[in-house]
Amino acid sequence: MSLGFRYQADVNEQIRALELIKRKLRTSIVIKVCNTLRIQDLRHLYYTIHHEKPAPGQLPGIQTITANRESYRYVAVFVSIYRNASRCNIRTEMDVEALMFAWDYFCLTFPGHIRERRPYGNIRPANFDEAWAIAESVQAGLIELAYCHRCHHNFLTNYYSHLQPICQLCAIKKRPGPKPKTRTEQSINQAV
Ligand SMILES: [Zn+2]
Repeated sequence: MSLGFRYQADVNEQIRALELIKRKLRTSIVIKVCNTLRIQDLRHLYYTIHHEKPAPGQLPGIQTITANRESYRYVAVFVSIYRNASRCNIRTEMDVEALMFAWDYFCLTFPGHIRERRPYGNIRPANFDEAWAIAESVQAGLIELAYCHRCHHNFLTNYYSHLQPICQLCAIKKRPGPKPKTRTEQSINQAV
């Protein structure tokens, strides 16, 4: 590899690390895809941008992210965007650029619903750490999209969940009591 090519590759890697940190991915994960910067440099960069320390510890698990069926619908939307944005097979490799695009688009689709660092709501992923964990779960074969022949939308299957692997849109529609469609529900139906 020529020196010029190596230099360009290093610069590209550092730009990508910067983009990940701008989206608040914890630095213990960024270091895995950036070999040219030290963890201290990444932490300093994070603090410079956000004026707070990066979150410590492990990524949230997919079971926590998909704790209820309502959240499944949003994760299905997110995985659909990620899959459509990627030119790779996301079941065999992580596409970092497509993942960043999917996260940005997801935030635009549900403005005001994403509460950074306060993932108590049903709209998941609630931050980019969760988005990363979802992409890893797709790659590991823990979750995948399936097609519902009844409503003609994609739904999320989680092979390690206590919930039945059925379409979440159809399951929620079956619940008793009339409920007018909210704008968020309309967005989901269009996006999945
Ligand atoms: Zn369905």
